[in-house]
Amino acid sequence: MSSVERIASIISVGNELLKGKTVNTNFAHIGRMLTFAGYRVKYGYVCEDTPEGIAETFKEAVKHSDLVVSSGGLGPTFDDITVESVAKAFSMKLVKNDHIMAILRNHYTSLNLPLTKEREKMAYLPIGSHFIENPVGIAPGVIIDVGACKVIVLPGVPSEMEALLGLARDQYAFGGVYCEKSIVIENMMESTIAPEITRIMKERDGKVYIKTHPLNSENILPKIEVEVSSYGSERTDCAEIVKSVLAEISDSALKLKSGKK
Ligand code: ATP
Repeated sequence: MSSVERIASIISVGNELLKGKTVNTNFAHIGRMLTFAGYRVKYGYVCEDTPEGIAETFKEAVKHSDLVVSSGGLGPTFDDITVESVAKAFSMKLVKNDHIMAILRNHYTSLNLPLTKEREKMAYLPIGSHFIENPVGIAPGVIIDVGACKVIVLPGVPSEMEALLGLARDQYAFGGVYCEKSIVIENMMESTIAPEITRIMKERDGKVYIKTHPLNSENILPKIEVEVSSYGSERTDCAEIVKSVLAEISDSALKLKSGKK
């Protein structure tokens, strides 16, 4: 993928998500974190926990992405098959990692529990991959390079996923720049400000993205949030452009309200 615009995809693994039993809050967390790390999150997938479903989804995601982050399916139960399915998708052999095995042995011995083969499964990683130790749980995060695409496989438990994603960000320094700011405009319909938004975005030649979010029904009291965002390489330039565009939108809104536009 292009080195200028960095594309990320998010994969959420789990039947419980497809059935609507679990709300996909991991997706929102990963999406915000990657966006603020300068990635354009272009694709999101939710797949069932079957070997084919997982393999197909990862193969598709890496085709279009510089970075893929998944959550779910790293635990010790029969349906936790993300790592082995990803390994199969990319024809990578699974090998026992002695360091993770020692962590598992210590953990379960301290609980007086046997190291069953289901528990041992968490120590088998694709050959050539890296791992990040889980500071709040057991299953490690797994980092796999598939061609130029980095694939980060994380557990589903939100606190574990969040801790490991933070560590992955620090370790792999996925630092880009993204700025986002909003204003709220009262007594303004989306359709009234729409031509101004189109004009400003055109004039800024793709450097900013402007999105309006209606906060109320137009029939009751029109009220909109206008969100301006921009990607860049320097934080100050990025913040400056967002600030000046918001000022221009405020000015246009005032003129529209006073009938001067
Ligand atoms: P475990 O060790 O619990 O098996 P795991 O990595 O295999 O961990 P899952 O079994 O997929 O993860 O999910 C564990 C729990 O985490 C689920 O029961 C659910 O409550 C929560 N969870 C999973 N995926 C998500 C998600 N996308 N958003 C929010 N919560 C999630």
